[in-house]
Amino acid sequence: MTSILQNIFSVRNDERKIHKIITIAGVKIKFKRNILANLRDNITYILDKHNPLYRSRIKDITIRMRLTNNCNAKCKFCSQSSFSEQRKQIQAENDWLYKWCKPLYENGRLMMLTGGDPFVARECKNFIEFISKNYPHLTLLLESNGIGFNEEYQKLVTDNLHLTHFSINGSNVETYKNACWGGEAGEIAFYKTRRNIENFLKTLKEKNMECFAPSVSMVINDESNDDVYNYIKLALEWKCRRIGLFFNLKENDMKYFNNPKMSETLKMLLEIEKLFGNRVFIAFRLYSPGVEAAQLEKIVDKIPVEELKRKYPELEELVKNRSIKKELEERNRLRRLKGKKTFSFENEFNAFIRTKEYKGKTHCDIPWNCIDIRPDGRLNFCSWFRKYKNIHSYVKNDQIDWETVLNDREMIHYRKNIINGVYCGCEGYCPVNPTVHDMFAPNKYVRL
Ligand code: SF4
Ligand code: SF4
Repeated sequence: MTSILQNIFSVRNDERKIHKIITIAGVKIKFKRNILANLRDNITYILDKHNPLYRSRIKDITIRMRLTNNCNAKCKFCSQSSFSEQRKQIQAENDWLYKWCKPLYENGRLMMLTGGDPFVARECKNFIEFISKNYPHLTLLLESNGIGFNEEYQKLVTDNLHLTHFSINGSNVETYKNACWGGEAGEIAFYKTRRNIENFLKTLKEKNMECFAPSVSMVINDESNDDVYNYIKLALEWKCRRIGLFFNLKENDMKYFNNPKMSETLKMLLEIEKLFGNRVFIAFRLYSPGVEAAQLEKIVDKIPVEELKRKYPELEELVKNRSIKKELEERNRLRRLKGKKTFSFENEFNAFIRTKEYKGKTHCDIPWNCIDIRPDGRLNFCSWFRKYKNIHSYVKNDQIDWETVLNDREMIHYRKNIINGVYCGCEGYCPVNPTVHDMFAPNKYVRL
């Protein structure tokens, strides 16, 4: 009986296991095994390619455009300090800035311009003007150390309702010099940045646009640890949109604190996060050491907010009239008047670190609607993924069909893996990688 059925239809290996033999109604067809495997892969890809679950959402795509590796600062913890001089000098090419990426701008809502430092890139000013004039719906997010944020840029940003983020590593010059960039050059940079930001804030106030105050961030290391409270206070005095603090990865190995004072800082941050709640977004969990945080969180969970208000009266005074929701609504109101796309909380605050639910499980959502383009043309959906392609390999007839790029065989394959919990290719230090960390929650208390 079995042999009759096998004659009707069967698939088996030949004796040397080099070929597959398919029998259909007594007719035997012999294939090389890899031909069959390729055929199966091709059919799977064709089916997956049309499955909306695995396709990119180019509409409203978030773009991270790195204009140059070059920078006008010398932060001692900079991950780019080991780059060769030649690599530092590379700049995004005009062809992709002004031609090939146009479909991304047409679809996008947010494009981060970063580096190195974007303001030292040859094309920075022209490019901001080009985007502001031709794609007014698109919001730029300028990520910089602030040194080059001169009045010309301040005007461009204010007139076109773009967003800004400045990494300023210290609330005062001494901390900045010890923790980030020493000597006379560091001192000049610190004061220049402060002047630029304070001038920008003055303009925003005059125009009744304080809801567009910048986001700021600082790296916490052994030298800046004592400055964290004052830094938060300064950021609140500036009415910053978001306050970011990053524990120095290299110094603390992400697993333990070599300086016991860091634990006190982490506890203080957990308390301040709870105190702020929905009023001001403070983010420090990106690289915070999970084990210590989990232990300290149990203690902080039990502290009533009223007690925290008494413990941090100065901060409470500065946040008492703030509301993340109201400030976002005000930005959106002004955006509508200018014909810009509006933002949800998620797509403004967590644009590059977002997650999604599928079948009761949370997965990283970045591969679906983000793209990261580096100054040498390498691209992928994020900078934490080990594999990437080069923008030049996608150009046909001097343009790029982004629908095809974002849904090519590899992209579909990575998304299918990630939605199924397989994160091969993802760096371990990526904060959204759930195989290494608990799923990333940028802020525990903000629920809008
Ligand atoms: S501002 Fe950023 S890119 Fe420039 S040196 Fe500092 S860490 Fe590096
Ligand atoms: S490395 Fe992987 S987990 Fe991390 S953001 Fe990129 S795709 Fe997501």
